[in-house]
Amino acid sequence: MNNGADILIVEDEPKIANLLADYVRAAGHSARVIGDGREVVDDVRRKTPDAILLDLMLPGKDGIEICREIRTFSQVPIIMVTARVEEVDRLLGLELGADDYICKPFSPREVVARLKAVLRRAQPGPAAATEQGPLRVDAERFEATLHGERLDLTAVEFRLLQTLASAPGRVFSRDQLMERIYPDHRVVGDRTVDSHVKNLRRKLAALDPELDLIQSVYGVGYRFELPE
Ligand code: CA
Repeated sequence: MNNGADILIVEDEPKIANLLADYVRAAGHSARVIGDGREVVDDVRRKTPDAILLDLMLPGKDGIEICREIRTFSQVPIIMVTARVEEVDRLLGLELGADDYICKPFSPREVVARLKAVLRRAQPGPAAATEQGPLRVDAERFEATLHGERLDLTAVEFRLLQTLASAPGRVFSRDQLMERIYPDHRVVGDRTVDSHVKNLRRKLAALDPELDLIQSVYGVGYRFELPE
C-alpha cells in the first residue's frame, strides 16, 4: 500500500526538484513539484498529497512557516529537506511537527527509504478512530459514540457505520457494503443490508432524532453525509 502515493515536492532548484521527482517516481509514486513557497499551503489544502518533501529555503515563504501552517489543518507526513546538517538541530528545537529530516546532498536510496517509512506510519490501520462531526468510530475499542454517548451496535452495524463514515459523501452500493460488513463473504440478500441500515439509523436517531447521517440513494445504495 506504500506504492502509488501522491508526493508533493517543494523545491525551488529545478535540478534537485527533478532529481527528487525521478527518485519518487522510480519508487512507484506520483510526484508534483512546486518551487514557490507561497503556493504550497493552498495546494496541500486542495490536493491533499500523501506526503511532502519540503525544502527549507524557498522563495516567497520558507519551509518552517509552511510546515507550521500545514500543521494547523493537516497531519500529512512532512520530510524537511535542508542543505546543512547543523540546521537539523535547530529545526528539531522548533518542534515544527515535521516527521523527518533529510540533508543535501542525499542519496536516492535514502530519500525513498525515509519516504517509505513516513508513508507506512501514516497508514490508517484498522486501529484508527474516525471522527465525523458528533460521531466517533473507534475501531480499536469497537465502539461508536454520538455526541459522546455510546451507540449499542451489533458487529455488523458497527462495520456498516465504520465503512460509511470512513468516506463521507461517497455512495456505497449494497454489494460494496456487504463485502465490508461480512468479512467472511457470506452470501446474503440485498434486503439484509437494508435491514441493518434501518436498525443502525434507528439507533442513531434514538440519540439524535434531528440528525440524518445515513442517506439512501435511490437505486444505488447508501451514503454518509454530515449536515452543513
Ligand atoms: Ca531551496
